[in-house]
Amino acid sequence: MIRVNEHYSLLRSSYLFSTIARKIEEYQSKHDGADIIRLGIGDVTRALPAALVEAFHAGVEEMSRDETFRGYGPEQGYPFLRNAIAEGDYRSRGVRIDPDEIFISDGAKCDTGNFQELFSQDARVAVPDPVYPVYVDTNVMAGRAGAWKEGRYDGLVYLDSTSANNYVPSPPAGQVDLIYLCFPNNPTGVTATREQLAAWVSYARENHALILYDAAYEAFIRDESIPHSIFEIPGAREVAVEFRSFSKTAGFTGTRCAFTVIPAECSVFDGDGKPVPLRTLWNRRHTTKFNGVSYPVQRAAAAVYTPEGTGQVREVLDYYLENARLIREKMQTLGYTCVGGDNSPYIWVEVREDSWEFFDRLLDRAQVVCTPGAGFGLCGERHARISAFNHREKVLEALDRIERVLA
Ligand code: PLP
Repeated sequence: MIRVNEHYSLLRSSYLFSTIARKIEEYQSKHDGADIIRLGIGDVTRALPAALVEAFHAGVEEMSRDETFRGYGPEQGYPFLRNAIAEGDYRSRGVRIDPDEIFISDGAKCDTGNFQELFSQDARVAVPDPVYPVYVDTNVMAGRAGAWKEGRYDGLVYLDSTSANNYVPSPPAGQVDLIYLCFPNNPTGVTATREQLAAWVSYARENHALILYDAAYEAFIRDESIPHSIFEIPGAREVAVEFRSFSKTAGFTGTRCAFTVIPAECSVFDGDGKPVPLRTLWNRRHTTKFNGVSYPVQRAAAAVYTPEGTGQVREVLDYYLENARLIREKMQTLGYTCVGGDNSPYIWVEVREDSWEFFDRLLDRAQVVCTPGAGFGLCGERHARISAFNHREKVLEALDRIERVLA
């Protein structure tokens, strides 16, 4: 008899976005033609920048002729893209990352989700709260969590991110083995300082732990003092892996391209305490289970690093950041305490009431959709995430409506 993976029965249904979708549907069925403005789900709204589209087209053209056609590419990604990333994202910021430490993939969601399979079943896992749910659910699927009790899984260590610590948790007192960090954070939008990241790197080095650093939103950082990469911190190469994505950086949510960086010195340990290079393990995993990102998509991603591409991408990011500034400013004017929104597309608002009640009120009375913080974890209660991914006129209209309802 084929038996099911029982760990799946521990999973909570993905209630956050499905509940939001159901509530919107119900509202629409009762209010025919309602003009709902969505500042909820974090998907981009602006088209791919022209330089990227041009490179994409050129890649497709190459595929159309026998002389330039390409079949399977290297699973780890084409050298032209790995070189461009190593130079454009790292060396240009004074960080040494070699192209063969970079693995191209079709998404940071898959990479952050798949990466946990390299570690032992009994690894002690620490996740932020509020959290990007992929970190939790994939470890539950792998059997690293116990029962769900009062809003949390037994067996996981939750790193509370609240106003008391400015939403940046410090390393725990006890031992954990695998640590998920995400900065700029989803959902809170906060960034971590060099000192805060250095404390995590010290912890990981002292405890032989590994940091999985999700930097999917690094391109939104404008404050020069904030690190874009965990590898800007001395000593991180031995104890950290970094995930990045072109999704939010360059509008690739539907195009799909991302990458994971594993320095040559980064190791995990076998039963005898002998180091095993993580890059070799991931290379084995990647080449066994993945067959590469399509050539035209990698060409489009590489165009991010050309002078035209960089300028056009920056213009789109600045557009979202201006949306974020407008949202944050309005919510503050209305008397709400907010974080995020300055180096991030997300604004995390302390709503001072049940987060679903706040969501319902905005939907019902302003026809505006936000994301209730409770959906991201216990510490998200009494908060809401507002996303800056929408067209300017929609954002301004939403803010007018919010003002009428909340003022
Ligand atoms: N990491 C974080 C923190 C995210 O918020 C998201 C998307 O919302 C992802 C990763 C997924 O990125 P990708 O589109 O590359 O799978």
